[in-house]
Amino acid sequence: MRIDLSELSRSPGKSRDCSIRYERKAIDIGGTKYPVINAGDACFTLSCPQKGVCNLEGRYELEAMSQCDRCLKDVPVKLSVEISESFNAEETPEVDADELLDREFLIEWPAKVLCDPECKGICQICGKNLNDGSCGCGEIPADLRMAAVLDLFNSQKKEV
Ligand SMILES: [Zn+2]
Ligand SMILES: [Zn+2]
Repeated sequence: MRIDLSELSRSPGKSRDCSIRYERKAIDIGGTKYPVINAGDACFTLSCPQKGVCNLEGRYELEAMSQCDRCLKDVPVKLSVEISESFNAEETPEVDADELLDREFLIEWPAKVLCDPECKGICQICGKNLNDGSCGCGEIPADLRMAAVLDLFNSQKKEV
């Protein structure tokens, strides 16, 4: 979404409301795309403190779908970013609101996404989600399982 600054920048002391909507379908965080599930209109204020300069101020909230780092369950991530930027209208007669928000979302994106701080993750052996209950894999030490396989092998040998 583009915001035209050229007209307002010629009216020092004036300001106007500016409705902003993030128009991308997904946000890109370091090459990974997270689908936007909730992005509304936000009312920003565009003002001209002096000739040729425009300030854009407001808060934008968005929800994107991510995954739990441990169990891979879908987890919505809510972002709330504050924009307070000043533009030289001669260099930037038009502002791309999506680009401006992209930059803020990148800063605001959580380093770790968990469905629950206590998430138990998934079993490395059978892939079961351990939040749904124990799978039993962790209860049998690996060397005991190997011993069971050897027992089977030996008993088969005796029969031959
Ligand atoms: Zn989880
Ligand atoms: Zn398991």
